[in-house]
Amino acid sequence: MPEPRPEPRPAPPPAGVEVSAPCWNCRAPVAPRDTRCASCGRARTHALLVCAEPCLELRHGPGPPLGLGRHPDWAPRTAAAFAGWNKVSRHHASITVEPDGTAWVEEPEAGSRNGTYLNGARIAAGVRTPVRDGDQLRLGLRVSFAIRLYGPEPGTG
Ligand SMILES: [Zn+2]
Repeated sequence: MPEPRPEPRPAPPPAGVEVSAPCWNCRAPVAPRDTRCASCGRARTHALLVCAEPCLELRHGPGPPLGLGRHPDWAPRTAAAFAGWNKVSRHHASITVEPDGTAWVEEPEAGSRNGTYLNGARIAAGVRTPVRDGDQLRLGLRVSFAIRLYGPEPGTG
């Protein structure tokens, strides 16, 4: 497969002209007034998690939690990337996004071996802890995610 080329940055729209933004899930254009994508049905609301090492970019919308860990069934979107990261637990933490755009991180009741940290503070196991736009989420000491939240209203993302 050829390397995907970086997309050129679109020019800003003229004042007063409404432009469609691409859906975060399927990239189909979403009109500014629509709160969900007509093509795939996903809400505009989602969280973006970016990790530098291992290189990982996850977008997650409202619905079931996004598992972060090394268990292939519990955390299917991260298990392969974390396969060599023994400080990341099999069931480390999960992210939930609500339709209103709020987001939450939670460790399973059993907790993780090396902890989950939100902006440097360890979260308690089994407790839903609110996540805000711009927060830093860390699994153990080394694996760090920058979090961006995109709400139901039109905007970037
Ligand atoms: Zn879509």
